[in-house]
Amino acid sequence: MKIMKLYIPGPTRCPPEVMWAFARPQINHRGEEFSGLLRGATEKFKQACVTQNDVFFLGSSGTGAMEAAIVNFLSPQDLVLSVSVGYFGDKFADLARIFGAKVIHIPEPRGSAIDPSAIEFELHCNSKIKAVLVVHNETSTGVASDLESIARVVKGFDRLLIVDAMSSLGAMPVKIDEWGLDVVVSASQKAWMCPPGLSMIIVSKKAWEAHGSAKMPRGYFDLAKAKRAFEEGYTPCTPPIANFFALDAALDLMLKEGMENVFERHRRLSKKIRDGLRTLGLNLVAPEECASRTVTPFWIPKDIREEKLVEILKTDHDIVVGRGLGELAGKIIRIGHMGWVDDAYVDEVLDCLHRSLDKLRQVSRCCS
Ligand code: PLP
Repeated sequence: MKIMKLYIPGPTRCPPEVMWAFARPQINHRGEEFSGLLRGATEKFKQACVTQNDVFFLGSSGTGAMEAAIVNFLSPQDLVLSVSVGYFGDKFADLARIFGAKVIHIPEPRGSAIDPSAIEFELHCNSKIKAVLVVHNETSTGVASDLESIARVVKGFDRLLIVDAMSSLGAMPVKIDEWGLDVVVSASQKAWMCPPGLSMIIVSKKAWEAHGSAKMPRGYFDLAKAKRAFEEGYTPCTPPIANFFALDAALDLMLKEGMENVFERHRRLSKKIRDGLRTLGLNLVAPEECASRTVTPFWIPKDIREEKLVEILKTDHDIVVGRGLGELAGKIIRIGHMGWVDDAYVDEVLDCLHRSLDKLRQVSRCCS
């Protein structure tokens, strides 16, 4: 199988240190070595996220943590507000519905950020809303919403704030404790520079209080079981041990670089990629003021066919890019740039895009 260069918004590239750790021999998941690994990785993760809240790692993709974020803190018939600006916001609302929540779903235009005043209006009008679901960094449109302002509004009404920070946590500031985020979820294959297989959920004291009366059905994702097991130094079920080795190694790298430096690297490279795409004459989906630092989607130019561009990037340059999701399928391309990324990584995709667009235009001129 050919090794491709990944420019998708997860899974992302993994540094060699992480993959060496991933390849380590397995250990007994009920032994002291695993307890040490679990406790150590949890402490390092808390340090990276600057949080005193409880952290749990789940053996699942990010969607598992989204499900856990719903079923552990809500009951069927609870009223939940979801303001969504994309595919993943809609997915979060759907999950809540599947488990019996009554969802007030407010879809906002794709390419826009969540408007905190829309949340304020709904909370003002409806005192029965128990929790607010938001996606911080909407990976389908490359929009990062102003989570601090959203949190201020939700906290002002003393409601539970449940945040999908899948593609922002570890790449940009998410001040969990300072902003009062109750439940936050992420996944290993995003900014954490690891293979897929582990998701993370961070739970506040207020969320634990809600857990006490929450009645949605839960089994594998029951966090009360995860908490009890963690106190003993284990996970409730067999954990994906290799993913823990990998995450531990990735956290060492990130903490060594310094989280502020990690954030600054993402900020700088995301600006570089946006500037580079604009120089190629491409229009970006997200306005500059709410542009994501981890994924940059652009509109397919009128004279270019999306599938041809995707194909030429793949065949000529071994590059895989993210395609549009849902209603944006065929209309945009998403460049992922999170985790183990540097200037050379950004330069390469910009150069290959330039050459691919030129080639496609030359071909179409020849044929017309
Ligand atoms: N939420 C966001 C913002 C995402 O970007 C993704 C994955 O791309 C998910 C949820 C779903 O995560 P997973 O595919 O790991 O289940």
